[in-house]
Amino acid sequence: MSLSRRLFLATSTVGTFGLAHAGKEAVVESDPKNEDGNWTFNKTDAEIAASVQERLPDRLFDIHAHLYRKCDLGAPCPEFLRPGPDIADVDTWRTHLGKVCGSKRLAGALFVPYPVKKGDVDAGNDFVVEQTSRIEMSRGLIVVMPDSDRAKTEVYFNNPKIVGFKPYHVFAHCAQTFDAALEEYLPEWVWEMAAAHRAVILLHLVRHAALSDPGNQTTIRKYCSKYPKAILLLAHAGRGFHAPNTIRALPALKDLDNLYFDSAAVCEPDALMAIVKAFGPRRLLWGSDFPVSQQRGKCVTVGDAFSWICPRRIDIDPAAPVCHPTLVGLESLRAMYLVAELMELSKKDLEDIFFNNARRLLRLRVV
Ligand SMILES: [Zn+2]
Repeated sequence: MSLSRRLFLATSTVGTFGLAHAGKEAVVESDPKNEDGNWTFNKTDAEIAASVQERLPDRLFDIHAHLYRKCDLGAPCPEFLRPGPDIADVDTWRTHLGKVCGSKRLAGALFVPYPVKKGDVDAGNDFVVEQTSRIEMSRGLIVVMPDSDRAKTEVYFNNPKIVGFKPYHVFAHCAQTFDAALEEYLPEWVWEMAAAHRAVILLHLVRHAALSDPGNQTTIRKYCSKYPKAILLLAHAGRGFHAPNTIRALPALKDLDNLYFDSAAVCEPDALMAIVKAFGPRRLLWGSDFPVSQQRGKCVTVGDAFSWICPRRIDIDPAAPVCHPTLVGLESLRAMYLVAELMELSKKDLEDIFFNNARRLLRLRVV
């Protein structure tokens, strides 16, 4: 354990603050493996939550939230999920994310399975389908793989709550899937089906330059133009964790009317600001990336790429002011708060980003 890590543990208040009413799925704080304090909510979190919630609209629609059962994820379970609940359902989402943004504000969500290579994809999809039936203002995506059966995939659209697809690079048939070409994990038949149903493709780009990668750009332009009724929703600001990748790429994509961006897990404001500047506030949608939102730390642009900071990997000088890392969900909301401040967004702009853009995109009937 590093000195900075020991200092963090000695001075932080990782604890059960605010979890008194979190129900049976609250984290067991004594878990020695939960060194980072993932899935906890402490005093620092509560203070940051109170300040970011001041600017939030009354109604929020979460455009990017994962629901799952650990038993469907295969082994080993992703590390940051281990201290969390075995079943992350609609109630878990509301309980934990409610602390971040205020549970009364959470009107609904676009729920997505948690895609892992060794998991049971069908079981994960069926779990999300079942969960979407539990609240009116919810819709679902299904994970689609290059080998998915097209006819079987089509059947999911018999359910009006299923509105699109979640492809993911881990299902590409290449050794280094972080370098996969888009076509290797998003086959053309998915675009065709999306266009037929005016459905959403929630796309997490890979490759070093993400949205600035020439291959990614060419493919996005090719299929967005060929299938204008398909809705391409680029997750994480076009995987803009390294903000210059997104900022550089946007001017070349501005003319695509079916291109949208979510803010999921983006912890710095610059890529989000560039999207609002290039496309206006009607193409950006707030998403929590739950359960990533419950991870403690922050994703930052570093050098020519990006890095995930977490309490175990943060250098805090003992002589400097004490630093308490907070949850990714709060860092991301604070980034959005900075966008609003620095770009002087109006109340209506924020209502668009946090609710109305999703309502229009998913054709939701609001009662
Ligand atoms: Zn996600």
